[in-house]
Amino acid sequence: MTQQYDGLTIRPGDHGYDETRRVFNGMIDRRPERILRPSNADEVAAAVRWAVEAGSPLSVYGGGHGVTGSAVVDGGVCLDLRALDGIEVRPDERLARVGGGATWGPVDAATQEFGLAVTGGRVTTTGVAGLTLGSGSGWLERCCGLTCDSLVSMQVVTADGRIVTASAEENPDLFWALRGGGGNFGVVTEFTFGLHEVGPLVLGGMLLYPGFLTRDLIKFWRDLVQDAPDALGSGVALITAPPAEFVPEPARGQPAAGVIVCWAGDIDEGQRFLAPLRDFGPPAVDLVQPMPYTAVQQLIDEPNPAGMHNYWSGDFLAELPDEAVDRLVAQAQPAPSPLTQIILLQGGGAVSRVGEDETAFGQRQAPYNLHYLGMWPPDHAEDQRNIAFIRDLAAAMKPWTTGNAYLNFIGEEGLGRVEAAFGPEKFARLQAIKDVWDPTNVFRHNQNIPPSRETVAAGAGAGTVG
Ligand SMILES: Cc1cc2nc3c(=O)[nH]c(=O)nc-3n(C[C@H](O)[C@H](O)[C@H](O)COP(=O)(O)OP(=O)(O)OC[C@H]3O[C@@H](n4cnc5c(N)ncnc54)[C@H](O)[C@@H]3O)c2cc1C
Repeated sequence: MTQQYDGLTIRPGDHGYDETRRVFNGMIDRRPERILRPSNADEVAAAVRWAVEAGSPLSVYGGGHGVTGSAVVDGGVCLDLRALDGIEVRPDERLARVGGGATWGPVDAATQEFGLAVTGGRVTTTGVAGLTLGSGSGWLERCCGLTCDSLVSMQVVTADGRIVTASAEENPDLFWALRGGGGNFGVVTEFTFGLHEVGPLVLGGMLLYPGFLTRDLIKFWRDLVQDAPDALGSGVALITAPPAEFVPEPARGQPAAGVIVCWAGDIDEGQRFLAPLRDFGPPAVDLVQPMPYTAVQQLIDEPNPAGMHNYWSGDFLAELPDEAVDRLVAQAQPAPSPLTQIILLQGGGAVSRVGEDETAFGQRQAPYNLHYLGMWPPDHAEDQRNIAFIRDLAAAMKPWTTGNAYLNFIGEEGLGRVEAAFGPEKFARLQAIKDVWDPTNVFRHNQNIPPSRETVAAGAGAGTVG
């Protein structure tokens, strides 16, 4: 072995091995042969060169929230970036430099110190890296764009172990591909984001309605938010009311619907805009109030604990007629597990004003984004029932989808779904970029875009190869 990696290495049997290989999804139980924990970009580069020379399968661990568990690989090398969690905010330049292993909670906190933010994930423990590379959807997306839309540059370790910059000026093809193309093109050791003025107080929270109102509520919400200003980020969550103190006792454990809102504009204007929702029903629980943006970002942390079994899928909707709402509710409630959440989000706003071809991520005109998040306590006996529920639900909603997928939210659904995320032309462009930056598919443990040669060899998607 000529390549030298001098950073921290954790092997089976070492103290902390089991804790370190754990990911968010408790269904994943993979045992890497080595976990390499570099602490800077040079060590990351050395680790990549080492793994390539050793011929080891390589996975990249950002925040470990990918539902497929692609952050860890059986018998291979897990490149664990969690020590690269530095955050530097430059308020004068409205920039934040964020390490490739950081999570959203600390980024939100550090930027909000200066009344600034970048669209972040809706759960604070999610990794910045995987989320951003998959485009990044959050409550601020209608006013600030997707997370990847705020990227100014990235420091990237390539498959051959070089450290390069990806920006509009330097390696623009790589910069384009990394904004939505996932972890296929290199290891990002640092992101530089442009920041937006947000809060620190926003109007946020949740209105919770009993399940028998879900159908009417979704239709009411759909009509109300259709012309909403960009300040409003909102969605409807079909859930089971938790056994929490704020929920009236008879509603606990029953199907329910929550409208979650984040109004990042004038608070009084937001109150006026949301008043009809408060009159509708009225809600059993009204938690909407002025609150710090960082508090909104923590709203759904509790119902998303690590270690549960998870099976997820997702689709963009092209339209949401009454018939689709009726089908959704009939199929989704009650769910087999009280932890399952079906989340319908409004699109549009700043997301839709970025050109479809400006970034690898497309889907910018889709009016709704629907997440099917199956989650249940860690008991394999429950797996099949819960997985079947999500698959049946996703199948039932197909007539209203755009036909494209959202890679941040789907499980292992095959190459066809990865191709469908981009459409044939963009997929071919991504493959051409993959051919340049990772021709031997070193970065394959992800929602993989294989190099064109591999696709041809496998006989899949051959018609799309550029
Ligand atoms: C509780 C929860 C809430 C979520 N909320 C949102 C949300 O609000 N919005 C949204 O858009 N998505 C959301 N997601 C989905 C999330 O964006 C994806 O699962 C994403 O992949 C997670 O990133 P991670 O770094 O934590 O993942 P990991 O599991 O660590 O990584 C997933 C893949 O990303 C790649 N990767 C990770 N780090 C790097 C890096 N530094 N360089 C190169 N490639 C890398 C690798 O290919 C890796 O296999 C959520 C997921 C969970 C579990």
